Amino acid sequence: MTADLPSFFDPGSLVAVLTTQPLGGTLDYKAPEGGCHLGAFVEVPLGPRKVTGVVWGAGTGGFDLSKARAIIRVLDVAPMRLEMRDFLRRAADYTLTPMPAMLRLATRAPGLGNPPSMQKIYRIGQGDPDRVTDARRRVIEVLRTYGGLSFTLKELAEQAGVSPSVVKGLVKQGVVHEEASPRNLPFPPLDPDLDRKDLTEDQETAAKTLISGIKSGDYGTTLLRGVTGSGKTEVYLEAVAEALRQRRQTLVLLPEIALTAEFLTRFTARFGAAPAEWHSGVTMTERRRVWKMVGQGAAQVVVGARSGLFLPFQNLGLIVVDEEHDTSYKQEDGVLYNARDMAVLRASICGAQVVLASATPSLESWTNAEAGKYRKLELTSRFGDAVMPDIRPIDMRVEKLPSNRWISPTLQSAVNDRITRGEQALLFINRRGYAPITLCRACGQQVGCDHCDARMVEHRFLKRLVCHQCGETRPIPSACPSCEAEDRLAAVGPGVERLTEEAAQLFPDARIATLSSDLFGSARALKAQIEQIAEGGADIIIGTQLVAKGHNFPLLTLVGVIDADLGLQGSDLRAAERTFQLMRQVAGRAGRSTRKGTALLQTFQPEHPVIRAILSGDEVGFWRAEANERQHAGVPPFGRMAGIILSSPDMQEVFDLGNDLARRDTPLRRIGAQVFGPAPAPIARIRGRHRVRLLVKAPKGVALQTALADWIGQVRISNQLRLSVDIDPQSF
Ligand code: ADP
Ligand code: ZN
Repeated sequence: MTADLPSFFDPGSLVAVLTTQPLGGTLDYKAPEGGCHLGAFVEVPLGPRKVTGVVWGAGTGGFDLSKARAIIRVLDVAPMRLEMRDFLRRAADYTLTPMPAMLRLATRAPGLGNPPSMQKIYRIGQGDPDRVTDARRRVIEVLRTYGGLSFTLKELAEQAGVSPSVVKGLVKQGVVHEEASPRNLPFPPLDPDLDRKDLTEDQETAAKTLISGIKSGDYGTTLLRGVTGSGKTEVYLEAVAEALRQRRQTLVLLPEIALTAEFLTRFTARFGAAPAEWHSGVTMTERRRVWKMVGQGAAQVVVGARSGLFLPFQNLGLIVVDEEHDTSYKQEDGVLYNARDMAVLRASICGAQVVLASATPSLESWTNAEAGKYRKLELTSRFGDAVMPDIRPIDMRVEKLPSNRWISPTLQSAVNDRITRGEQALLFINRRGYAPITLCRACGQQVGCDHCDARMVEHRFLKRLVCHQCGETRPIPSACPSCEAEDRLAAVGPGVERLTEEAAQLFPDARIATLSSDLFGSARALKAQIEQIAEGGADIIIGTQLVAKGHNFPLLTLVGVIDADLGLQGSDLRAAERTFQLMRQVAGRAGRSTRKGTALLQTFQPEHPVIRAILSGDEVGFWRAEANERQHAGVPPFGRMAGIILSSPDMQEVFDLGNDLARRDTPLRRIGAQVFGPAPAPIARIRGRHRVRLLVKAPKGVALQTALADWIGQVRISNQLRLSVDIDPQSF
C-alpha cells in the first residue's frame, strides 16, 4: 500500500515521476539537490523539453543509474497528498483513462510550472523620511503622489527612475511598507454564525442530519430532495457552516456558471465573505491563487464547476452537488467523467460528506437512496407562503394556429392576463437561435455544416449560421449552398429568437427579455440582465434551458412551455427522465414568492405517460415506472453500460476497426456482457472526423473495466484513429 512508501527521497536517489505527457507509466529521475518529498510537483527534462510531473514513488531502476537525468526543480506548491493520488488512480481505473490524462486534470493551475510568484507590493509607510538621498526622495514622492495606489517593485523603481535597491533601502528604514501582493493573499475568513436563518421544522431536521454527518468525520452521501424554493440551499449552507466550525473545507458544485452570481451574494450575506471561485470565467492569475490557497487550506470554501473536484484540498469535509441530476455534470470531452459520481468517490476516500441536492433527482441517485446506499432527506413544501404551481396541458391538436406560429391562443390570453396584473410570464423553448432548420424551397436540401453531421442553425441576432457541434459560423447566404437558387432559403421551426419575434407581434406593448447562453458575451452581462428581470424590468421572459436552472424571479407567475414534446422524440432511453426533470424544473420557476403560479404545457400528446406524470406531479409513481422499465431492459442503474467511440477522418477505417472489435468479444462474453454495433455515433461526424459507436451492456457487479481493457487491448490503434471509452454514457 501507498502508506509504506518513503515520504522523502535523498538527493541523487532514483525516483519515479508521473508526468502529464502520454507516455504510459512513470519515468525515473534523480532526486534534485535538497532531495524531494513523495508527491512533490516537479519539473523534469523530457527530450528537449521541460514538463511538469509528480514524484510518484521510488525509481524502478533496471538501467544504468549514472544515465538517469535529474529533476530540474521542485515547484513551490504543497506535495500531492496520498488521498489525491488514490483518487486519481481510482478515477483512472473507473473511467479507463491513462494516468497522465488524469494528472492533467489535477495540475490545471495555469503557470504551476512557473517560478513561484514572489511579487510584493509597496506603499508609503510610517517611518521617518529624514535625511534621504535624492533617489530615495523620488520614490517617496511617487508614493505620495499616487497615494492610494500600490506598486510592484519593478513599477515603483521605474516610476521613480531609481534602481530596485533604493526601494529596498527605504523598506529597511521603514519609510516604505512592503507586503504580499493580493494574489498571494489567503481568502478572508468565513463566520459560520454570522447570519443564521430560523429554519422551518423540515429544514431543521435535514440540517441536523447533515451536521451530525460532518461531525462524525466519516464518509456519507445524502440525497436532499425538495421542490424548487423549498429551502434546500438554506439547508446545505448549514452543513457548510458546520464544516467551517470543524475546520474542514467545502466544495460546492453548481451546474452553470450563470448561477454563481446569485449564489455568491447569498453566501456572502450568510458568512460575511465570498468563497473562492473555480470555473472557466475566473482569470488565470486568480485560478492560480485559488489552486495554491486550497492546497494550503487557506481557502475554506470553493464554489464552481466540476473540475473543482481535482483541486488539492487539504482537509475536504463536504461536497455539495447542487442540481445533481443536471447533465452538464458529465464531462463529454477529454476525460469522460460524471462529477456527481466522482464527488462520491473523492468523498469516500477522504472521509467527507456529500450532499446531492435536487428537485428532480437522477434515477441513479433515487435508486441509491431507495436501496439505502444514500441517506434521504426531503423538504416537502415550499418555503413561506409559496405553493407549487398548477401544471396544465394545452392540447395543440385542438388549438387553431396559423403556420409559423407557436404561441397558442390559450397561452396568449394567459400571458395577457399576467401582464395586465403586473406579473411576469416566461415562455420556454429549449432551442437556441432563430430556427433549427434552414431549408431550400427550390431543392429541398437543409443547410448543414461542412465538417459535422449537423444542421447549421440560423442565429438572426448574430446574422450568421452556426454549427452547434463544432462552433463553425458563416454569414447567412442569399443563395442555397446546394442548388444555388437565389432567395429560396426558409427558416423552419422555432428557436428562442424566432419566438421573441412572434411575442413582439402578439404583445406589442410588453417589455420582452430573451435569455439564451449565446446572447451574452460574459457572465457579468447575463447576471445584470437576470437582476434586472428579477426587479421587474421585463414583462415577458423568453428563454432556453438557461432559465430553467435556479434563478429566482419573484414576479413570475406563468410559465408557458412551447413544445413539451421536444425531448420525447428519439430513441434515447433517458429521454423520459430528462423531459420529466426539465419540465418540472421549468414549471417550478412559476410562483416562487407569495403569488400562486401556473405552468401551461403545449403538447400534441397530452396522454403520453411522461406528460401525464408531469401534469399529475406524481414523482414517486414516475420514478417507480421508469425504474421498472430500466430494470427490464437491464440498463443503468440496474445494469452497466459503456460506449466506445471510434473516430477518424477515414470512414472505412473506423468501421473496419469497429467490426474487428465487435468480432473479438470473448473478454466481454466472459463477464456476461454483450456488444452492440458498430453504428454511427449519435453525431456521426464532428470536425471532419467520422464517428462510430459500440455499446457494451453488462450485468451489475461484474468487473466491467477490466474486461473492457482486455477487449480493447486486442487491437492496434493507428495514428489518425482515436478511441475513447465512455463509462455510463448519457444516452443509450
Ligand atoms: P431551493 O434551494 O430549494 O430552491 P432556497 O434555499 O433557495 O430553495 O429557498 C427559497 C427562498 O426561500 C430563498 O429566497 C431563501 O432565501 C428563502 N428561505 C428558505 N428558507 C428560509 C428560512 N428558513 N428563512 C428565511 N428564508 C428562507
Ligand atoms: Zn460543425
